[in-house]
Formats: sequence, C-alpha cells, structure tokens
Amino acid sequence: MNAIIPNEYAMPDAEGRFGPYGGRFVAETLMPLVLELNHAYERCKADPTFQAELDDYLTHYVGRPSPLYLAQRLTDHYGAANIWFKRDELNHTGAHKINNCMGQILLAMRMGKKRIIAETGAGQHGVATATVCARFGLQCVVYMGAADVQRQSPNVFRMKLLGAEVIPVTSGRGTLKDAMNEAMRDWVTNVEDTYYLIGTAAGPHPYPAMVRDFQSVIGKETKVQMQARRGKLPDAVVAAIGGGSNAIGLFHPFIEDAGVRMIGIEAAGRGLDGPDHAASLQGGRPGVLHGNRTYLLQDADGQILEGHSISAGLDYPGIGPEHAWLKDMGRAEYRAATDAEALEAFQLCSKLEGIIPALEPSHALARIGEIAAEIGTGGDVVLNMCGRGDKDIFAVAQHLGVEL
Ligand SMILES: *Cc1c(COP(=O)(O)O)cnc(C)c1O
Repeated sequence: MNAIIPNEYAMPDAEGRFGPYGGRFVAETLMPLVLELNHAYERCKADPTFQAELDDYLTHYVGRPSPLYLAQRLTDHYGAANIWFKRDELNHTGAHKINNCMGQILLAMRMGKKRIIAETGAGQHGVATATVCARFGLQCVVYMGAADVQRQSPNVFRMKLLGAEVIPVTSGRGTLKDAMNEAMRDWVTNVEDTYYLIGTAAGPHPYPAMVRDFQSVIGKETKVQMQARRGKLPDAVVAAIGGGSNAIGLFHPFIEDAGVRMIGIEAAGRGLDGPDHAASLQGGRPGVLHGNRTYLLQDADGQILEGHSISAGLDYPGIGPEHAWLKDMGRAEYRAATDAEALEAFQLCSKLEGIIPALEPSHALARIGEIAAEIGTGGDVVLNMCGRGDKDIFAVAQHLGVEL
C-alpha cells in the first residue's frame, strides 16, 4: 500500500473522504462496525487468495469477462465515433449489481457473518443479494419500502423464490430512504452476526470505495479489450447514474488517463427545471444521507425529496461521493436524459442492435449520438450496457399505450 505514490486522484483518504464528500456520518454505536468492516476489507484486498476466489466466481458463476461489442448499426446511424457496448447486461441476473454482491458476500463470509441484510428500492439489488445468499446458504433479509413492495411485485416474488425474507417498511413514505434507515437500525441491533450489503457506491466509508473496487472489473476489462481490439484507449466512457456504482466501476480505471473523457448520465425525468427528476448532481445540493456527505435531492429545509424517473433503478436520492468529487474537480462530466428521451433510445437500440436495453442504460444511450459526434469519426466511445430490458417491457408498453 505505502509503495503507492500519492497523486491527486488517490482517493479516498483514511477517513473515507473524497475532498469534501464521503466520510463516516454514523451513530456512535455503528462506528465500531464500520471500522471492523474497513479492517476486514483492507485485509481481503491485500490477500491474493481472496482475489483469486472472487475471480473464479466472476468467471464461472457471473459469466465474466463480459464482451466489448462494436454496435455497428448504431454507429452508422449517428455517422460519427465508433460506439461500443460493454455487455454487462449478459451477467447472471442481467445487470452489473452481481459484481458487487459477489465481492461483498465473500467478504461477509471471511468475517464470519451468517446473516445478510440489504435494502432495495426497485428490487434489483435485493434480487442480486438474495441470489448470492442462496448460492452460499446464508440468511437474507431485505428491507423494502411498503410502496415499493406494491409497485415491484415480480422482484419481491423473485427474492422469495431465492429464499430471502422481504420486510416491508411502512415508516416515512415507505420508499427507498425509509428502507435504508431500517437497514441501518437492524445493523446496530444485530452487530454480532449481521453484514449490511450496500448496493451502490454510497454509504459510510469503506462502502463507496469498496463497491467501486468490486465494480472496477468493468473498466479494467474494457481497458484490456479496447487495447486488444483497437490498440488504444477509448476516447470517452459513458454510463447511466443512479447511485453511481456501474459508472464509477467503468470510470475508475481511467481516472489517471487524462485523454479519456468520463461522462455520467443522470435521470432528468420530466425535466431538470421541475421537481420530477432524479439528478442529484445537476439538480441537488450537498448534504448528509446514508452515512456520507454528497449531493442530494432535498428541499429548502433539507428534507430528502423523492426522485422521479421512468427507470425505477435510477431513483436513489443521492449519488456516490466519488462522483460528487469528480464533478467538482471537473474530471468527469455529467449530463441528463429525460424519460421521453430514454424511451426513444430504448426502442432505437432494440431495433438497430437486437439488444433490448434496461431503461437505466437507455438514459446513456439517449446521449450517445451527441457524444459520438463530439468525439468524431475514427474515435471510440464505450457505453456500459449495465442491464437488460426484460424487466422493463411492461413499463415501456404502458408508456407507449400498448396493452400486454
Ligand atoms: C441499479 C441499477 C442502476 C443504478 O445503480 P448504479 O449504482 O448507478 O449503477 C443502473 N442500471 C441498472 C441496470 C441497475 O440495475
């Protein structure tokens, strides 16, 4: 560790701060737990047998490496830079979330934990967590806002099939933020045997850095694959932003490659000028939530606002602290796409590439034409296809006025 020469991007510091963001804003009772987790993670990170075990599961259970695919017809459609898809929608369970869940479940087992808790909004992180718990025979408890339990019944059923217990949370408005609070409460009361598995690059230190490290497999593979295919680095890497985990996983290995532009796409919902969006970086301001300081959707009194997006997976009311810092530093750029734009991109990608994307990466797809034009013919742009669209066909049909 200490052989690494400090540089301006070597973050976070020992307290988990990314500049003024991140940190450990937790109750005194939780502090010993996050410190224990930090030590355990540092040990695993430095242990080659841990990494080898993780790599083995990523290869044979998750299905990595995912391909880097040249989307030729989409490239021709825009007539500018080559557009590549990093195919993380081909992972087991159909999205990138399993990369992180696999890393954390192996860590939890090394810590001797027998009971896994998680919170979920749309249910996708709950399903990925229930999947790895089933695989390793660990008890799984998932907190989910009561309103979300109603709205996301297929994912609730999936979690139950996988053997998880789903606890509806009725406090507050019965959505993601309330489920997050409930999970934190459970963690404090069941210190001995319980591991809290967070699903995005947020939460108190070490979660933002740890989730980033587990998702960085996306960017590391992309780097190797692009070198093999084109003998160079991409000119830009692009990803949709909810809490920011798939984006930071793609971006992070390129942070020190100044020539690679990093562009995150937030959900603009019905427009950034109104309240109905989920763009924490572009439409929020800094505050403290979920154990860290970052940009949040909040009202004038600091009350957390419910995000809106056509995509349930982009509704996290905050953003991982590393993105907040990258934005302030100007190293990464952040743009947004509306519900309508994402819906259009969803259809275009399906028709031109034979790939039905999730609504989350459809937000990145909505901006890819203009980004390809900025890079220009002969350049290379990589978009993280972070999820497949099977889960979204009912929502899309409804928006298009089609009855299924
Ligand atoms: C959960 C999810 C997201 C949003 O989470 P990030 O932490 O921002 O990656 C994006 N895409 C898909 C497919 C998801 O399931």
